[in-house]
Amino acid sequence: MSTASILIKQGRLIDPARHLDEVGDLLLEGGKVRRIGGSIAEAAERTIDASGLIVCPGLIDVHTHLREPGHEEEETIASGTHAAVAGGFTSVACMPNTHPPLDNQAGMEFVTRQAARAGHCNVYPIGCITKGRQGKELAEMGQMIRAGAVAFSDDGDGVADAGVLQRAMQYSTMFDVPLIEHCENADLSSGGVMNGGATALRLGLPGASPMAEVIMLQRDLVLAEATGARYHAAHVSTAGAVELIRQAKRQGIRVTAEVTPHHLSLTENDCREYDPNFKMSPPLRTQADVEACLDGLADGTIDCLATDHAPHGQEEKELEFLYAPFGVIGLESALPIYVKALIESKVVGWPELVRLMTVNPARILNLPKGTLAPGADADVTLIDPDLVWTIDVEQFKSHSRNCPYHGWSVRGRAVATIVGGVVKHAGGALAQALSAVTH
Ligand SMILES: [Zn+2]
Ligand SMILES: [Zn+2]
Repeated sequence: MSTASILIKQGRLIDPARHLDEVGDLLLEGGKVRRIGGSIAEAAERTIDASGLIVCPGLIDVHTHLREPGHEEEETIASGTHAAVAGGFTSVACMPNTHPPLDNQAGMEFVTRQAARAGHCNVYPIGCITKGRQGKELAEMGQMIRAGAVAFSDDGDGVADAGVLQRAMQYSTMFDVPLIEHCENADLSSGGVMNGGATALRLGLPGASPMAEVIMLQRDLVLAEATGARYHAAHVSTAGAVELIRQAKRQGIRVTAEVTPHHLSLTENDCREYDPNFKMSPPLRTQADVEACLDGLADGTIDCLATDHAPHGQEEKELEFLYAPFGVIGLESALPIYVKALIESKVVGWPELVRLMTVNPARILNLPKGTLAPGADADVTLIDPDLVWTIDVEQFKSHSRNCPYHGWSVRGRAVATIVGGVVKHAGGALAQALSAVTH
């Protein structure tokens, strides 16, 4: 398919991979970045006035649950990727805890095929570490890599057996891809539905100890050091984990880490209404943990921002807090929540926020993405940093509605998402101008 050339005029070009932050033009042609910077006089088939907007590499989410195959009523690869582009994401990596789990070559090919058919954004499959996510026998990593897997994870659960994880790490070094761990020692978290501590006691809910995260991470870092494997800690939520990662990086262990919007913007106190939209795994922690995660982002201990977009159906989420499933959606609310948690509170500025959502996740997953360098794929997100809007789950493209931010007034929104040189989403001031060119 041929793509029309697009000239994006006078935006604030932010490309952290090249330390670029200046007002100028960007020309996209043939699905690639053709020129960037200064004033570009060349004619293009389409021109976008981006004055007042941020123009940056397309956002990348390393941690999305698309629920297909098996739970298409919660999300499909089509609906989840539609939500992704609406939120400004041009690439997502999807977790394999589907039904059946994505633990083989056919699973990787299925995801890639469905994503291409949907045609919204790039999807990179993550394969299971163990067959069937059973935590016992290693899955066929080599075959999955050849079929497009970018990482391995048994997310939803940690790998409980240290011997299995050690073998997975040894094997993964052959491919130099990260193992992504959901750090949760089940012996310590067993039965917990929120953060363990005084608040859980007061609410009369079983708590999951923050040590469940810290102890598994500590064990994993010992194994990562011994094997030389690349290790990525998913959804870091505790002060103890942030400090362990900080120390491990100082020791040269090949560890990277992500945080989620909810672990930066909410605390265990938000569970007080017993609303299941505040039930996630790992659970919301204390204000001290939130601040430790923010410090970790500010000093580079935490490498990237993810969503852990975890769709669940209305019926399930209407269960009592105690019985409701874990997880919340995030693709369509992540950007403004990150703006609130990081920019409005002056933890980082826009160039750093863009780095945490583009080039850093690209490097973790070895993706040839995350920059606007000439010749790069024309994956571009246009952000209106001043647009104030109200999060309304009824407007979401996701099939699910389990979002803790419904009704929040927020600032900052992706107003255009361009994937491979094609406009896949347009909103805000650009909605009318570009509505004719989205499909
Ligand atoms: Zn997880
Ligand atoms: Zn997850």
